[in-house]
Amino acid sequence: MKELRERIEADGHVLGEGVLKVDSFVTHQVDPVLMEQIGRVFAKVFAEAKITKVVTIEASGIAPALYAAQYLQVPMVFARKSKSLTMNEELLTAEVYSFTKQVTSTISISRKFLSAEDNVLIVDDFLANGQAAKGLIELCRQAGAHVEGIGIVIEKSFQDGRELLEAMGLKVVSLARIKSLSEGKVEFLEEDA
Ligand code: 5GP
Repeated sequence: MKELRERIEADGHVLGEGVLKVDSFVTHQVDPVLMEQIGRVFAKVFAEAKITKVVTIEASGIAPALYAAQYLQVPMVFARKSKSLTMNEELLTAEVYSFTKQVTSTISISRKFLSAEDNVLIVDDFLANGQAAKGLIELCRQAGAHVEGIGIVIEKSFQDGRELLEAMGLKVVSLARIKSLSEGKVEFLEEDA
C-alpha cells in the first residue's frame, strides 16, 4: 500500500534493536484517514472469503481492525491483555510474549464472542516474531473457529513471524513489508496489497 509506505518513510523512526516507532499515526496518535484506507484494503482482499468476525488485540490493532470490520460489515472483537472486572463469563485465554515490552501476558476473549461458526480475519498493527498472531490463532482454535487469514499493517520481514504463520498454512497479507531497519533506514520489500 503506497500511502502507508510513504507515511512510514515520512514519519516513522527507527529505534535500535530493530524497532520501528510509528507513534504519530499508528500506535499512540492514530490517523483515522490512513486507518480507514487500510481497513478498506483488508476488506477488499478478503471480500469473497465470507468473514464473520475480525479479531485483533488491544490497543493498536483496534483501529485498522475496526475499519476492516466496518467494510466487511461484521463485528470486530479485540483480545484484552488484562482481565476486566466485568469479564465474569467463560474466557478463551492464551499466553503471548511481547517483543517490544519483553513480558509474557495472558490475552483473553469472552467465549460468547467467538464460536465454531466463525470464519475469522485476524488483523494486527505489527508482525514481528508472530507471537501476538499465534495467541489470537490459539483463541480462535479454542472456540473451534476457522482462521481465514491474517491482515498485517506493518510486517518486519527480517523477523520470523510470517514464516511461522505460513508454516501453519495461513494466508498473510501485509500492507507494508520491511526488509531491514539497519543504519536508521527503512528498506521495504514489495507488499502484498
Ligand atoms: P510479534 O508478536 O509478532 O513478535 O509482535 C507483534 C506485536 O509487537 C505487535 O502487536 C506490536 O504491538 C509489537 N511490535 C513488534 N515490533 C514492533 C515494532 O518494531 N514497533 C512497534 N511500534 N511495535 C512492535
